[in-house]
Amino acid sequence: MNYIIDHIPRTTPHNRRPGVPMTPQYITIHSTGNPKSTARNERAWLTNPSNTVTASYHIVVDEKEAIEVLPLNEVAWHAGDGNGQGNRASIGIEICESGNRAKTLENAVWLVAKMLNERGWGVDRLKRHYDWSKKICPRIFYDNGRWTGWEQFKDAVQREISGGGNVTQDKNTPSAWAKEAWDWANKEGLLDGTRPKDNLTREEFAVVLKRLADKK
Ligand SMILES: [Zn+2]
Repeated sequence: MNYIIDHIPRTTPHNRRPGVPMTPQYITIHSTGNPKSTARNERAWLTNPSNTVTASYHIVVDEKEAIEVLPLNEVAWHAGDGNGQGNRASIGIEICESGNRAKTLENAVWLVAKMLNERGWGVDRLKRHYDWSKKICPRIFYDNGRWTGWEQFKDAVQREISGGGNVTQDKNTPSAWAKEAWDWANKEGLLDGTRPKDNLTREEFAVVLKRLADKK
């Protein structure tokens, strides 16, 4: 599955990207509530001028791909709990209701397992939108007045983690192939020595380039 990074601009109206820093502690699962929209449709809606709602999330996944629409270290408005932990400390993932449901769920399971692995987290970090604010969401796991499928989803993520063989990866230790370069970059003051497994944003890259240029 493709993982596309296509962040909405800081200037997006209705405060959908407040730019507030966040240290995530949970992953919150949603479903879009729209049986027709794809991940690309959902991404486009965030910057559609006729959208007047203050609502956002971090990643949307469908049968084909996942799109990251906000940096995972910035607050999005998705949990309905105001300034509670749902909005302020969780990564919001929207599962599309369109297309092939089995394939979509397979992609979601893979993505969530990978994200938990990368952070050294277990499935206890997974929450439903419902857990923060009692909204019936993700509704794809709700039927006839009761939750169906949520425990199965978490079980599938757990199986993916267990089968992945990656669960014991220490996220605070650089990989063997990168250690020499990692130590050098820290000794030279180009990096700050933290988060060796995290992605580098374009702005962080710019800071590193400037540190390098300033050394000359
Ligand atoms: Zn939701």
